[in-house]
Amino acid sequence: MTKIFNDPSEFAEEALAGFCDVHAGLVRQVPGGAVRRHRPANPKVAVLAGGGSGHYPAFAGLIGAGLADGAVVGNIFTSPSAQQAYAVAKAADSGAGVVFTYGNYAGDVMNFGMASERLAAEGIQVENVLVTDDIASAPPSEADKRRGIAGDFTVFKIMGAAAEAGADLADVVRLGRKANSLTRTIGSAFHGCTFPGADAPLFALQDKQMGLGLGIHGEPGLFDTDLPSAKELGREFVSRLLAETPEGAGDRLAVILNGLGSTKHEELFVLWLTVAPLLRDAGYTLVMPEVGELVTSLDMSGVSLTITWLDDELEPLWLAPAETPAYRRGNAAVQSGDASGEEISDDGDAPAAYEATDDSREYAANCLAALDAARSCLHTAETRLGDMDAIAGDGDHGRGMVRGIDAATAAAAAAAGQGAGAGSVLIAAGDAWADKAGGTSGVLWGAGLRAFGESLGDRRSPDAEELAAGVSAFSDRITGLGKAELGDKTMVDALVPFTETFTRLAANGAEPRQAWDAAALEATTAAEATASLRPLKGRARPLAEKSVGTPDPGATSLAMIFTVMGQFLAGSGHPVTDTAAVTAADSQTAGVLS
Ligand code: ADP
Ligand code: MG
Repeated sequence: MTKIFNDPSEFAEEALAGFCDVHAGLVRQVPGGAVRRHRPANPKVAVLAGGGSGHYPAFAGLIGAGLADGAVVGNIFTSPSAQQAYAVAKAADSGAGVVFTYGNYAGDVMNFGMASERLAAEGIQVENVLVTDDIASAPPSEADKRRGIAGDFTVFKIMGAAAEAGADLADVVRLGRKANSLTRTIGSAFHGCTFPGADAPLFALQDKQMGLGLGIHGEPGLFDTDLPSAKELGREFVSRLLAETPEGAGDRLAVILNGLGSTKHEELFVLWLTVAPLLRDAGYTLVMPEVGELVTSLDMSGVSLTITWLDDELEPLWLAPAETPAYRRGNAAVQSGDASGEEISDDGDAPAAYEATDDSREYAANCLAALDAARSCLHTAETRLGDMDAIAGDGDHGRGMVRGIDAATAAAAAAAGQGAGAGSVLIAAGDAWADKAGGTSGVLWGAGLRAFGESLGDRRSPDAEELAAGVSAFSDRITGLGKAELGDKTMVDALVPFTETFTRLAANGAEPRQAWDAAALEATTAAEATASLRPLKGRARPLAEKSVGTPDPGATSLAMIFTVMGQFLAGSGHPVTDTAAVTAADSQTAGVLS
């Protein structure tokens, strides 16, 4: 249980600020995360690790000579936004290119991908290296779908050492991908972790039970079993990993026995006593093994074993010195460059002057009312959405949606106050949502709202056809970015029926409001029907079977939001100032939730 916090929603930011203060000699906080205090004397490839908070020492604890040049730091267990990744890259770039490296999670892939597009457009060389070490998250035939867990550390370490030694971007990337392809992890959980402020863990195991195949976001194990002895656990881990020995692999191993947050080092040493002889008996030499906490999951109790098969190229990089707040190896690494560290301005672009017609500004007021209705609906549903997501995912859907809509409504109101039309209001809402929500759904909602706004523009209040075009733009952006198809058990399963029904009825001359309500009903039915599906995308995929019987959280929230937005977006086209209408929207929410 996390005991020390103020406002739980500020926990990650406060933890980062405290960390940067303690380690001010080594790291410097910048918008979006942290970078090394010292700039390199000569241009070097910037290795930027990233992902959500809650995994310390991953990722910010690994900033320093011989390891990462910076870390992009998201909220607890949620991907940082594209804007954060971009900002950290700009702060860390010294002219030789940047490489983002992170575990394979959809939110991270999309956000780092979008940041990469933006950096590339500015002429900065940029690459991405994904870590996919968790053998429990997909079979070998689908190794590229595996998620990244403690193997993150080996891959970061090898890339960091290569970059420090002066390798160019292509070589750092090649070595990182090679290290990933030779790295395998298996873990188990004994007790779930608890978000700051939450009164129960994300998942619970019976006493004397263990979940095998844990994830580092509180995802429970693939199956639960009686708690084995340390010897049995060690044998289980070693046999599962060696069963996946890469073809042609050598006989020297980097090994990490990693505690997940509240497992004692002494317990790890006891386990090591089984693991090490088994590996040696199998003919392996263990090269500078690590036993301790390298990638954690808040206060989760659990352990994972990672093996990297080394070769002549990887071994010196694994052995190379490093000096970071959380990890030191060998002599203090050479620090060169000046300590002044160029300051990064917090000022964004100057606020744009909005040009919009009065008609569009009037409709912008409807958009604000629609967002407010969604906000109140999501606050009501937060716990329920989190519980749904905890069954096979990581339990953050309710929290992420609330963070997103809170930021979106505030940004939309600010833009409207500065004279923005409807399109610009929705764009502001989308950008704020993407920046603050975190998670896959946050990226998709943010990008979708932006596309909706771009389609509407600031010229006039949309008629049925223009509204249908806006909805289609929203939908196309989400399917284009997330690449989910109907039946994959995602929000797309509610979104596509909504879009098709609304477009069809609007084209047939139906009143926008009637078309919208009919489409929202379709979306609600479709969201409920996802209960019988197995997820093929997103964090719930590895635990697909557990998800059967529960509707997809993202589809459920989408149906709810669209249901309550209809009377404002597809209403009369006049601004809605009537609080009774908002109350009516609330009771609709209650209907959707019951
Ligand atoms: P995360 O999965 O990153 O924790 P959330 O929990 O907020 O993010 O959102 C989970 C929801 O996101 C899922 O229920 C699903 O509807 C949606 N989702 C996941 N992956 C995709 C995808 N590739 N395309 C569309 N929607 C997706
Ligand atoms: Mg989630």
